[in-house]
Amino acid sequence: MANPMVRLFPTEVSSPQSAHIPYKRSRRWWSDVEDGKRTPMISVFVTQKAYVRICVHAGSDLNNEVGGWLVGKWRIDNNTGEEFIVVEAVLPAVYTRQGPAFLTFTQDSQVTMYDLLEDRYPGKELVGWYHTHPRMGVFLSKYDVWLHDNFFPRPWQVGLVLEPYSNQAGFFVRDADGHLDSRMYYGFYEINNNLERSVVHWWNMSSSPHSDVEGG
Ligand SMILES: [Zn+2]
Repeated sequence: MANPMVRLFPTEVSSPQSAHIPYKRSRRWWSDVEDGKRTPMISVFVTQKAYVRICVHAGSDLNNEVGGWLVGKWRIDNNTGEEFIVVEAVLPAVYTRQGPAFLTFTQDSQVTMYDLLEDRYPGKELVGWYHTHPRMGVFLSKYDVWLHDNFFPRPWQVGLVLEPYSNQAGFFVRDADGHLDSRMYYGFYEINNNLERSVVHWWNMSSSPHSDVEGG
């Protein structure tokens, strides 16, 4: 491959392990722009712990973009063949040049991040990245799309954009054909282990239980 970035993925796996998709332990959050007509190629699950970490980091600087990596696992459901990722941890980006309207992942920072990933979360995968857009809204800029394609090229890797002022966010997930829409963002499944309590506070998302039975 001509792209030198490819060499940055030493622990890349080529096929997902099988697992049971955790619908029953999750609450589905729908973004305000989801119309149900388009289907993302994978479903995104996020643990409550990881969600809180992401939000704390996102809210830590309301003037500059901050971001980092989403760490977890890529799996395929035993029965249905559905692919999904579970975001279990985050790695805040290091060595970024921060400014009011951009966040840069450099090749050095990526190498450092891979070292951290292997050191802190051995066996886990890089399932995507997140960054904030203070006062700018939830979308992918041209640069974001470029970055996603170059640093997160696996079809199942996702981008999360957060607007920390107004508490809005969305997951950018490729379609089955690999297309990434820079304005179309999805919700996710909050893994809450059947507890009623939710930690999600993004106002542009609304939730519905996956099953018809809402436990009391
Ligand atoms: Zn951006």
